[in-house]
Amino acid sequence: MPAPVEAVEECDRCSGAVPAGAGFCPWCGAHRAEVEEVEAPAPHVWETAEIDLWRGYVKSHFYAVARGNGKPKVVAASGDFRLLGREVRPDAQAVRVAHAAVVEALVAAGWEEVEPGEAWYKRRFRRPGDPVPV
Ligand SMILES: [Zn+2]
Repeated sequence: MPAPVEAVEECDRCSGAVPAGAGFCPWCGAHRAEVEEVEAPAPHVWETAEIDLWRGYVKSHFYAVARGNGKPKVVAASGDFRLLGREVRPDAQAVRVAHAAVVEALVAAGWEEVEPGEAWYKRRFRRPGDPVPV
């Protein structure tokens, strides 16, 4: 005696008839449980950070300001260095080392780099901010 025909559902992918509760669609092989179990990630806004230069009279440094839900805040800063001339040259070792330290601190804190800013040192980063309360 054949098993009684169970309730039939429709495949999300191919619209074929699938026995209720089946893990796979017999027509296209789509994994059905997976489709239903996908959980929406908690909503969040991206925090963004951009490296900028603080130019002092004698000493300067790089810093990164993060902007997200709250007030902008400095999330990384380099040691001081002397800028010779108006230009910020990446071929000056002290400048390069200070800049690399800020990039490293950001990456270590979970920031990922996105498109660069208008100057070579104005690199931009982002990371998921705090989940937005529902
Ligand atoms: Zn299917």
